Order: sequence, then structure tokens, then C-alpha cells
Amino acid sequence: MVNHYTAGKRLRSNDAYTPGGKSGFRPDYATVVYTDILKKLFPDIPVILGGIEASLRRFTHFDYWKNELKPNILSWSQADLLVYGMAEKPLRELVILLQKGIPPEKLNTLPQTAILQDKDSLLPKNKKWEDIELFSHEECLTDKTKFAQNFKHIEEESNRMHPARLHQVCGEKRIIVNPALPPLREKEVDYSFDLPYTRLPHPRYHNKGAIPAFDMIKHSVNLHRGCFGGCSFCTISAHQGKFISSRSEKSILQEVEQIANSEDFKGNISDLGGPSANMYKMRGKDLSICETCKRPSCIFPSVCKNLNTSHQPLTEIYRKADNIPGIKRTYIGSGVRYDMLLNQEATEQEKKTHEEYLKELLTKHVSGRVKVAPEHTSDTVLKTMRKPSFSLFKKFTQKFQKINDEAGLNQQIIPYFISSHPACEERDMALLAAETKSMNFNLEQVQDFTPTPMTLATVMYYTGLNPYTREKVYVARNKEEKQNQRQFFFWYKPEMRQQLESKMKRLGWFDVLKILFPDNSTKKKNDDFKSRKRTGKRKKRL
Ligand code: SF4
Repeated sequence: MVNHYTAGKRLRSNDAYTPGGKSGFRPDYATVVYTDILKKLFPDIPVILGGIEASLRRFTHFDYWKNELKPNILSWSQADLLVYGMAEKPLRELVILLQKGIPPEKLNTLPQTAILQDKDSLLPKNKKWEDIELFSHEECLTDKTKFAQNFKHIEEESNRMHPARLHQVCGEKRIIVNPALPPLREKEVDYSFDLPYTRLPHPRYHNKGAIPAFDMIKHSVNLHRGCFGGCSFCTISAHQGKFISSRSEKSILQEVEQIANSEDFKGNISDLGGPSANMYKMRGKDLSICETCKRPSCIFPSVCKNLNTSHQPLTEIYRKADNIPGIKRTYIGSGVRYDMLLNQEATEQEKKTHEEYLKELLTKHVSGRVKVAPEHTSDTVLKTMRKPSFSLFKKFTQKFQKINDEAGLNQQIIPYFISSHPACEERDMALLAAETKSMNFNLEQVQDFTPTPMTLATVMYYTGLNPYTREKVYVARNKEEKQNQRQFFFWYKPEMRQQLESKMKRLGWFDVLKILFPDNSTKKKNDDFKSRKRTGKRKKRL
């Protein structure tokens, strides 16, 4: 759905996943539509769902495009079983059992899968699992606070090392979501990545035009899975979890070599990355503490003292990849979490690796433009996003400039920002415009918040509540409110000026007006207004 529609719900004219970038080749709600077709064609064959859409719709969830709560996708699609998250392991187990002739309805205690059963039947036995019952779908429909409370459990369990089994009634059925398996170990991830992939799109797309998304990733290498950032608007941890599964150095370098030897390779690796570029090999120093941890993020509100943030293994991979014959340069296209690199609480040893990494990154692995995502300038909004304070981004820019100057480079920071995120008001956007202008940024990498299923921000968007504190959160929902926020990104465009100027005058936001449009005419009008205001006050007192 994100691929089909813009944040404003306008149909996109292109599709990066289709040859020639053409749109219209996949239906909306593809999982549901395809299941329906398969069930009609082969009514006796079980349908097993997988992939990110199934993962994120495994409980009652908010669907932005229909603007309503939807039931779990098994009830909605009539499929038989769902495998969620990164599913190599549960899928392998599932296939072995199906091959043995066990019918899917008997496979009710397979980890990392979800099934439906009659709502009054007893839960399948498994002594090792703790059980949590969520508010039913019907209760969520009538009470937003219950939907919000459900989310807290869902998020916590998605980020635990030993999660509970969650279940929820929906109509006459109950969805049972069995706990996820532990993250893959290095050997297991290597096994998956080292399979003899063709590294090409499906042969049916042959000669049908370039596929933009494939072109973007064909010379890139994924180093790890999972993300412990816990950003409110992001779906990665709901799908991949917060614990990192990393490939071995050998497996990664072998893939780089394979790319280097491919026919159309010109020498540049576009990304040595992952969900976040710099979480490779990171995990708790004392895993027994992680075993009982429920934090959705290991780095927010502050970097956990138990997290080992050494960047040394990653720096070494960059260096070794650069030395492979045929490689001219390796770039890092994935987003870098700068909060870890600036963590003052890190050990001296860790700090040393941070410095080294940043220098290596900025001097050798960016192509003149470094993409980082402060996401906002308001600390209230950033807190709601679970992102670090904007002051940290400022520190990062100073560090960036220093390294840049020392290396005699002329690199640029390209910051990413989001408008209309829960807790963001129009005034926050005006201040964002002023703050970023003062830092000499003309914003280009900007987007409106899109509520996707199973994120904290989406639950706040729908309920207007923070599920953890139950406090009210301001949400810009209608088109006009969103548009009003978005236009502050583009204050520098001549066509925006008149509109923004008159709005800021009307609202009395002269502090921002002064910064955005400091020319004489604005200043004069501003001074005139102030003097009128002062005169008015005096008259009143008299
Ligand atoms: S203890 Fe710290 S490092 Fe371990 S999972 Fe929790 S937040 Fe992450």
C-alpha cells in the first residue's frame, strides 16, 4: 500500500518494483486478494502467509488507507497459517512437518507462526510459554484505549528475547501468535546468505525493462538484520526484531567478491549496510540482562550501558572490502545512527572505535552527500519519535565539519525530516524551518508521516494517545493540517513566500518570520505591527 499510495493517499504514477517502473501491476491489499484467488482456484490447498504485510497485520491494526481498524490478516484473508518475521527457520520446520503429512490445522505450537482456532477452545499446550490475552478485535473497535493497551504488549513482546504467546479473539475465532524464535546465530545467517542466489530478478521479467528498485540494490550487500533503534514510526523491529543477527566477515567479503566479478559491475558497491548502517555485531555485553529486557530501544532515551557499541568489526569490513580486487569504492547508503557515535557514556575503548569509524565513513565511504535523519528539530516531537535531541545532531554537524576540513573535503550533510508525526504541531514545523535555515540547509529529503500497521506512531495517530503513558498526543489528521505543516519545508520557494508570510503575521510568529524572511520590507512591516501593538496596549491602559 505504501508502494501504491503517497502519504496523502494519492495513487502513485510509478512502481519501483515493476519493470520500466510501471504502476498498476499489483492489486491493493495484495496478500488478501491473492489468497482469495488461490482459495477459489485450489480450495483444498492450504495457504500460508508470510512477508512484511502479513507480519504487520497479525493482530487488530489500523489501516490508514481505509481509515479504520482491520482484524488480523488470517481472519481477513481466510488463509490457513501465518509465518511472521524473518522466517527461514520456522518455514523450514513447517515444510518438514507438512511433508510428513501433518495437516496445517494440527501445527498449532510452531514458533513464530500464527493460527486461528475457535474462540472457546483451549489454547494448545506448551508449558514453556507465558500467555498474554489481548483485548478482542470487537473491544478495540469500540474503545481506542484498549487498542492502545494492546499495542504496548505487542511491541514489548516483539522486542523480548523470550517473548510470550499472544492471543486475541476476533468474532468467533481466536488468533494465536506463537512466540518468535531467537535471532539467527552467525552460522545460520551465513547459511541463508551463502545460498547460490542468481542475484537477478525473476526470469519472467527478463527483457521487460529496468526495475528501479533492483538497480538500486543490485550492487549492495546486507551485513546484518534487526534494529534496536525503536523509532516510533518504523516497522523494522516489528518484523525483524531488535536483536541483531550479523553475518560473518567471511560471508560478507565473499559476496563483495562475487559482485566484483559480475559482468556489469563498474567498481562501486552502492551500500554495505543493513536496517541501520552501524549496528553490525552489536549486542548486550551481559546477555543475561538482555534476556529479561523489555525496552523497545537499546539507544533511546539513552544508549543502554549494557550495549556494546564498538564499531571496530564494521570499520574492518569496510577496509577489507575496499581491498578486494575490482572494488574502486564502497559506499554506505543505509542510515547511520549518529547517537551511538556521540555517546559520552561509552567506554574509552568504544569511543576510540566511534572516532575511527566516523573518520573512515566520512572520508572514504560517502559520495559527497552524507544522509542522516534527525527527523525533526523539536525535542518534544523527537521524544515522541524516540529519536535523540536535535542538539545531538548539531554536535554531529560540528564533528562532521571538523573531519571534512581536516581531510580537505567538501562534503555536505543531507538531513531527513518528517512532518505531521504525532505530537508535531504547525508551530513546530515553523520552528523547524527557522532552525534549519539558520544551519544553512535547504531541505529536500522530507516526507509526511505515513501511518503503517503495527507502529507506535500509528497507534498514536489513530487513538490520539501514547499507549505507554496514556497521555493525549496532538495529531494532525486532515489534509489541510498536513499541508500546513508540510509547506514549512519549502519556505525557500518563491511561490510559498506570500502564503507563509501572511500566515505567520496572522499567528504572530514574528520570531520565525524574522529568520525566514529577514528582508527590509518584512522587517518594516514587522516593526509597524509591533509599534501598532504597543500603541494599542497603551491606549487600553489609559
Ligand atoms: S539490556 Fe540493554 S543492550 Fe540488552 S536488550 Fe536491553 S536495552 Fe538492549
